[in-house]
Amino acid sequence: MIIDCHGHYTTTPVEAEAWRKLQIDALGNPALTPQKAALRISDDQIRESLEGAQLKFQRERGTDLTIFSPRASSMAHHIGDAQTSRVWSEICNELIHRCCALYPKNFVGVCQLPQSPGVPPETCIPELERCVKEFGFVGCNLNPDPSGGHWKEPPLTDKWWFPLYEKMVELEVPAMVHVSTSCNPVFHTTGAHYLNADTTAFMQFLTSDLFNRFPTLKFIIPHGGGAAPYHWGRFRGLAQDMKRPLLQELLLKNVFFDTCVYHRPGVELLLKVVPVDNVLFASEMVGAVRGIDPETGYHYDDTRRYVDSIEWLTAADRQKIFEANARKVYARLR
Ligand SMILES: [Zn+2]
Repeated sequence: MIIDCHGHYTTTPVEAEAWRKLQIDALGNPALTPQKAALRISDDQIRESLEGAQLKFQRERGTDLTIFSPRASSMAHHIGDAQTSRVWSEICNELIHRCCALYPKNFVGVCQLPQSPGVPPETCIPELERCVKEFGFVGCNLNPDPSGGHWKEPPLTDKWWFPLYEKMVELEVPAMVHVSTSCNPVFHTTGAHYLNADTTAFMQFLTSDLFNRFPTLKFIIPHGGGAAPYHWGRFRGLAQDMKRPLLQELLLKNVFFDTCVYHRPGVELLLKVVPVDNVLFASEMVGAVRGIDPETGYHYDDTRRYVDSIEWLTAADRQKIFEANARKVYARLR
């Protein structure tokens, strides 16, 4: 079985975006705020939105199950206040739940959290519990920077986040560290902000004893871990200079990486540097990069080809990357 641990509903019917626009337009005039019930999307529309995209690619590429979450760039936690974020997150998560209910063999849900800049993360607990307990979701996407590129929150290792971590541990759900749209023109959303956040989260984890306090807390750092694998020696050296334990002992029971690196040399480097036990197969399709690589003739995000082409992986390694590691990290997949 091949589990893709990182897929987004980027092909949501246009009605959802139109509803969001009404919500944003009403920020200055709450009387105009649309009701949740005003958003009408039929099951057929959902089927149509998936059949020609995520499901088509699953079939063509021979993957089985996608761990599926709302479109990351649309989370836009910086817009409005906590109430704005709560209602929008509920809508996005309910759409994911409907996708999973229509195609239970193809999708399992991961939720967007109703974060808002400066608002304590424990306010996200009710929505996390609803998604896990009522909808059967297996994880959440946690935005370390709800400000959208201005980095106003404390580091992920600060006690600010602990109540949410306590709930994650209780529910046995991991978080994928996933920022949203950058509203800072310095950072391109998918080309810089996402990768910065991945690298930043890794360094935060390296400098703290978070996992002594939460030994079963698990994070997936997506997009191949940002710069972490490429600069593994720097991180090991920094840890050593700071008299920290070895990375292996410090992080690798709790921190995992996905394979959303869109070329073979990058995936090979990731797998050479990071233990196979810490790498989960993922494509992020249909996501950030949708084109076909003229050098290979295949989609950049057809990441299965890269893993398949690395000849030194054993059959047991592949089974871990494609399935067993995801089952270990997303404990509720059982
Ligand atoms: Zn993503």
